Amino acid sequence: MRLEKCYFCSSTVYPGHGINFVRNDCKIFRFCRSKCHKSFKKKRNPRKVKWTKAFRKSSGKELTVDPALEFEKRRNVPVKYDRKLWKETVNAMKKVEEIKIRRQNQHIINRLKKGKELRKADDFREVEKNLSLIRAPGAPSRKMLEKKMVQVIKEEDDEEMEEI
Ligand SMILES: [Zn+2]
Repeated sequence: MRLEKCYFCSSTVYPGHGINFVRNDCKIFRFCRSKCHKSFKKKRNPRKVKWTKAFRKSSGKELTVDPALEFEKRRNVPVKYDRKLWKETVNAMKKVEEIKIRRQNQHIINRLKKGKELRKADDFREVEKNLSLIRAPGAPSRKMLEKKMVQVIKEEDDEEMEEI
């Protein structure tokens, strides 16, 4: 059983469905339904008809470099097994995966960083807004307190000196 692709809309043509048209130069055109066949007979260009895969691909509506398309490709030429080449491919795939994961993580980290910055800014704003709650109005500032401490220590020193 072979699933063919419709010449016009590129959808799958299941066995027992659609129509085959063989041109006099032996090229086979398969159509999934009469709609596609009729469009072909009207000489419409599938790339200009909006409901076809060809249009979507050519106008950038779809992922054209989809690895899934690679799987679907018919391979008429047998691929010779080459251990070295295979290893290289596997390594390349691993590397690609690694880089992908790293990039993803970087993306997440960047996002987290942004959130951190925003939170910090928010915190600062909150503190500035409610500064009166943290420090009682009229309380001495840190510098003043330091000065006072220095003074007290000096006085104590003086007293000790006098005792001696
Ligand atoms: Zn079709």
